[in-house]
Amino acid sequence: MDSINVECRSRSYDVIVGSGIEDMLFELVGEKESVVVTDSEVYALYKDRIKSVLPASEVFIVRSGERSKSENVLFDLIEFMIEKEIDRSGIIVAIGGGVVGDLAGFAASIYLRGIEYIQVPTTLLAQVDSSIGGKTAINVDNVKNAIGTFYQPKSVVCDVDFLDTLEEKEIISGLGEIIKTACLDEELFEYVEEKLEKLKKLDKEIVMEVVERCVKVKAEIVSQDERENCSIRNQLNLGHTLAHAMEITAKFMPKSHGEYVLIGIYYEAEIADMLERIDTEYKIRLQNMIIDVLGEKPELIGDDRIVENAMKDKKNHDGLISLIIPVDIGEASEVRLPEEQLEDIIEKLCD
Ligand code: NAD
Repeated sequence: MDSINVECRSRSYDVIVGSGIEDMLFELVGEKESVVVTDSEVYALYKDRIKSVLPASEVFIVRSGERSKSENVLFDLIEFMIEKEIDRSGIIVAIGGGVVGDLAGFAASIYLRGIEYIQVPTTLLAQVDSSIGGKTAINVDNVKNAIGTFYQPKSVVCDVDFLDTLEEKEIISGLGEIIKTACLDEELFEYVEEKLEKLKKLDKEIVMEVVERCVKVKAEIVSQDERENCSIRNQLNLGHTLAHAMEITAKFMPKSHGEYVLIGIYYEAEIADMLERIDTEYKIRLQNMIIDVLGEKPELIGDDRIVENAMKDKKNHDGLISLIIPVDIGEASEVRLPEEQLEDIIEKLCD
């Protein structure tokens, strides 16, 4: 078991990574009135464990999938907490993937002007990325993460045993955010590249090591730039301009978030090459890793609508589309392109 501290101005907390550590939740919640927020798939698999670790908790179950990051589900959860008379000393325990974490974190940040919450990420993606750093959100009118807050959890409990039940699609999804994080840290990039085969098979020792290393990279970034005020935290959006644009175009189907991230990184590396901003050898290594994970060279999804949707990206400024591109091992950089230039580039990439 390892504990990594995330130092933030608003609240510092530990991310505990280990195997068989879910029992810690009992102590972390203590005497507080608690609401477990989880999704239907996770609950079906882990109902008995949730009930045995947190027997006194109220349980709010959302449908599994991105569509639960919506205003309707958010308000149902708020109404549920009012009905259960959860007061300001209450606590939310988010047990699930990034969808549950983002939704529950957002509810915690606004309910009675803010109550505590604990993240218990159960997907690889959520363990290496979304549960850390306090970004919470829901989608509105097809705008991804349209409303949300920066609101740090009380603690994060990453029990890698949850990953045993993940479908392959979700392992690939987690690898998307792992490869993104590896693009920001040279040692992690070398490690992931070397251990990729074992990582794909979720070898417990390797997974635990990678989760810890990703948490450390993210904790370091978040500690320096909690609210994305400067370019430091923005690096974590590498590959995400195209990823989010494709996700919206495809209405979040049929691929997972991390798969879109992998395609986004692949093509943002291609754009970096067109702009002569990326080291060629690094680009080949990075793209080969992505092809290895996806099993084939990815295709861009949505052609002309990609730019239209990228225009709505929250990183944009002054009418220019912002992309965080990979440039060299462990290094990313922001480029801002006019709409017409990105249209030309996407057209060439789709040829
Ligand atoms: P998810 O929460 O939809 O989970 C994916 C699927 O895995 C779901 O069907 C879920 O029911 C299932 N699942 C969860 N745990 C399981 C387990 N242990 N065994 C079997 N099945 C399990 O998706 P995700 O990939 O975890 O998260 C994606 C979301 O995270 C997106 O909404 C994305 O925007 C968000 N995100 C947020 C941040 C952040 O910083 N807040 C960062 C990255 C991504």
